[in-house]
Amino acid sequence: MSAFSAIDDEEQEIDQNEFTPGIEPQATWCPGCGDFGVLNALKQAMPEVGRTPDETLLVTGIGCSGKLNSYFDCYGYHSLHGRSLPIARAAKLANPGLEVIAAGGDGDGYGIGGNHFMHTARENHDMTYIVFNNEIFGLTKGQTSPTSPKGHKSKTQPHGSAKDPVRPLSLSLASGASYVARTAAVNPRQAKEILVEAIEHDGFAHVDFLTQCPTWNKDAGEYVPYTDIQDDDEFDFDITDRREAADMMYEAESRLWEGEVLTGRFYQDTSRRTYTEEKQKIGEAPAEPLAERYFDEDAEWERSVEEIRANHT
Ligand code: SF4
Repeated sequence: MSAFSAIDDEEQEIDQNEFTPGIEPQATWCPGCGDFGVLNALKQAMPEVGRTPDETLLVTGIGCSGKLNSYFDCYGYHSLHGRSLPIARAAKLANPGLEVIAAGGDGDGYGIGGNHFMHTARENHDMTYIVFNNEIFGLTKGQTSPTSPKGHKSKTQPHGSAKDPVRPLSLSLASGASYVARTAAVNPRQAKEILVEAIEHDGFAHVDFLTQCPTWNKDAGEYVPYTDIQDDDEFDFDITDRREAADMMYEAESRLWEGEVLTGRFYQDTSRRTYTEEKQKIGEAPAEPLAERYFDEDAEWERSVEEIRANHT
């Protein structure tokens, strides 16, 4: 297969087992970890989206969530703590035909990489960002994270956290994400459907994925029972209306702190151009993928290294 088959439009039959590595490493997540739910939902979503492993790039950060790369067979990049998004952005800009998925934990994405999250959403890069939200730092043994509820006790906050947690859905909307949803590992049907929608969405799609950590965060339980806001008459709002979506997000975030789990689609805007489209519009991105040009000896570059050097001497 060509390294650029991601650019081809051929229809292919895809099976979820294609995303299982030939020599499958034994998953080292703890028994009952919500991370298994993300892996399973993603494996089921990809065939429905119609993408093959060689058309897909998965970029992960550091943490238990970062191990997703080891168990999901496609192009992969296990990056630095909080840095999955800039790498995913660069890959998407170089090869827009690639299906780019970034993944990381709540500490990775809302804390250490919070600035990248805000600006990737603002610029509406066409990718899916899955945040494994277990409300603690899991891999490093349960420290308080940006989404830990106020009062949550941990080794780093033995008297309880004095901070209000981050509101990830509201932050995402305010920053400019064009698709925002929350699902939970305990709800595999909804999780798969939301991942399909997020991956098919043209623009920055953010999925806050509640993943229970039975080892270090027993306070959070397993995020059950949960309510699907699209299936409950109590919640009647328009996901394309920014103000209604903002109110619904605030409600869901507040209720989670009280132990009530609301999941579903919160916001979608299909009218915005992606960052690549914006760059093409102003003539700063070529119509053909940069990645393809790089291997084309006859390609003519608007700006060569020599030209740039000449302009700076
Ligand atoms: Fe999952 Fe928590 Fe175990 Fe990490 S420490 S694998 S998040 S259960």
